[in-house]
Amino acid sequence: MSRVLVVEDEAHLAQGLRFNLEAEGYSAEIAGDGESATDRLLEKKEDFDVVVLDIMLPGKDGFSVVSELRAARNYVPVLMLTARSRPEDVLKGFASGADDYLPKPFDLSILLARLQGLLRRSQWMRTAHSAAPSNPPIQAESAPSDPRNVGDFGTFSFAGKTIDFGALELRTPDNLIHLTLMESELLRHLVRNEGRIVSRKQILEEVWGLHEDTDTRAIDNFIVRLRRYIEDNPVQPRHLLTVRGVGYRFLAKPEEK
Ligand code: CA
Repeated sequence: MSRVLVVEDEAHLAQGLRFNLEAEGYSAEIAGDGESATDRLLEKKEDFDVVVLDIMLPGKDGFSVVSELRAARNYVPVLMLTARSRPEDVLKGFASGADDYLPKPFDLSILLARLQGLLRRSQWMRTAHSAAPSNPPIQAESAPSDPRNVGDFGTFSFAGKTIDFGALELRTPDNLIHLTLMESELLRHLVRNEGRIVSRKQILEEVWGLHEDTDTRAIDNFIVRLRRYIEDNPVQPRHLLTVRGVGYRFLAKPEEK
């Protein structure tokens, strides 16, 4: 039985969620504020399979909760509940390390579907880690621009680094970086379009399902973070290039200077 922690201060909403989750066969518990959520997850190290996290909480808000979890290397999947019509909340949530989001008010069936998606993914991650790798790494040398070569749970290697899209990991010669779902999805989109320009509009609409008029500085922040992961010198990127006024381009094998 999957354990869900519902972090929500509106008691009637939290209890309604718990009731419905239990009716669907989950075990659900409520934390009424951010403090008790981090206390249970980090101090008491309670084991939950997924967290439903409201942003607007008394005291410590949802952004701080997820940031603290990730800073403490707790990678429990987090579904964030955001206020409708505030795309900046969505992007800030992803930047803090949330895996998915749902605007409030939400439809229960959509919430359940999103939770299923997150649980399925962590199941895959566990399977992928315990079983022998079935997907051979894709080398940049072999047809890098063929999108079919980057399977949903495949890996992609370039310049001594390997992205494992399913396990949400980026391995570099001296580091293992845990990616959020949204970081992994953005990297996958860039890799799939290797050598081609990907516009900001495309990133918003195709990768994250957001409306194109979202503040694009949020994307820039994501790119800055990805560069810290994949570039030897993030200030002078060679793999993840800005195409001024248009968008970004990923190069697995940049031209030697
Ligand atoms: Ca609230």
